[in-house]
Amino acid sequence: MKQTKGAARVRSPREEVDLPVVRNARPIRTCAGCRKRTTADRLLRIVADPTSRTGGEPVRLLPDPKRRLSGRGVHVHRSGQCLELALRKRALGRALRVEGKVDAGAVRTFFDSEA
Ligand SMILES: [Zn+2]
Repeated sequence: MKQTKGAARVRSPREEVDLPVVRNARPIRTCAGCRKRTTADRLLRIVADPTSRTGGEPVRLLPDPKRRLSGRGVHVHRSGQCLELALRKRALGRALRVEGKVDAGAVRTFFDSEA
């Protein structure tokens, strides 16, 4: 095949797509269930109830939809699936530095009430 001068395009339009601009107002977090990264407003923040950290009882997990509770938090997608996935992988307790069992009852109730 002969090359025709002037016919070749320099680059395809697809290569010129701008990457999304990351703004501080929309922090990126990783879902502890599926490990996908997305903006924090699409995830549910979960914290460990500080009043249940003593003794041998399971540590209660609390939903923090407004992301206002203090302390270490962990995020999952706003679906029960990613919560259960994260629980099976023990990802929540690990992320929250909780030793032993966790009680996700309050978070499940939150998802149930949202559905
Ligand atoms: Zn997820």
